[in-house]
Amino acid sequence: MKDTYRHKGMRRKLIETLSEKGISDERILKAFMDLPRHFFLDNAFAEWAYQDKAFPIGKDQTISQPYTVAFQTQLLDIKAGDKVLEIGTGSGYQAGILALLGANVNSIERHQQLSLKAEQLLKSLGIKNVRCFFGDGYKGLPRHAPFDKIILTCGASELPEELCGQLKIGGNMVIPIGDDVQTMYRITRVGEASFEREQFGDFRFVPFLKGKEA
Ligand code: SAH
Repeated sequence: MKDTYRHKGMRRKLIETLSEKGISDERILKAFMDLPRHFFLDNAFAEWAYQDKAFPIGKDQTISQPYTVAFQTQLLDIKAGDKVLEIGTGSGYQAGILALLGANVNSIERHQQLSLKAEQLLKSLGIKNVRCFFGDGYKGLPRHAPFDKIILTCGASELPEELCGQLKIGGNMVIPIGDDVQTMYRITRVGEASFEREQFGDFRFVPFLKGKEA
């Protein structure tokens, strides 16, 4: 796939849209400029890649809407070197954005085909600081815990206890919670067993499902 001037132009427009919608962190806008979103959709849909919309990526899953990716990223407040756990690799786009911000990303996906495809694509783009894992995100990655930041890109019906336990004290988790519509929460672990919650409006995500699928 190619990244042409036309794609770059569409990307610039998308970034203007994100900025009008309230994404103010310049580093995030730059990451959106640097990562060609059309590589994360099938070839035939390159035209759709720069609209501020979610899009199907197969297996009944979607690449999140650019605004949602930017918003969750902004809430995570990534510092270079942060160890991040992402639940729901999907296309790999959100993981790629986090990596461009200097995070070391560990991303889990329950669909093996999506996981392998994302891993290959990120590698082909020369992005080295993302590790893709095929597995059930409910379990997190106990062998790699604790994490500075955790992000869920699928909608959970409640706060998953297992993942809370894998967060560093002082770290935060950005998680959409709800059944039909999800409210975006930022959970901060302030002590061994104490967590603070902040709320940031409603979004729609594909569901956080148990188990994994080949
Ligand atoms: N971050 C992705 C968004 C993908 S949509 C992107 O940028 O493209 C959310 C993803 O979460 C889907 O691919 C879905 O398969 C995955 N998912 C749902 N439940 C999961 C679980 N228990 N463990 C891992 N991934 C899960």
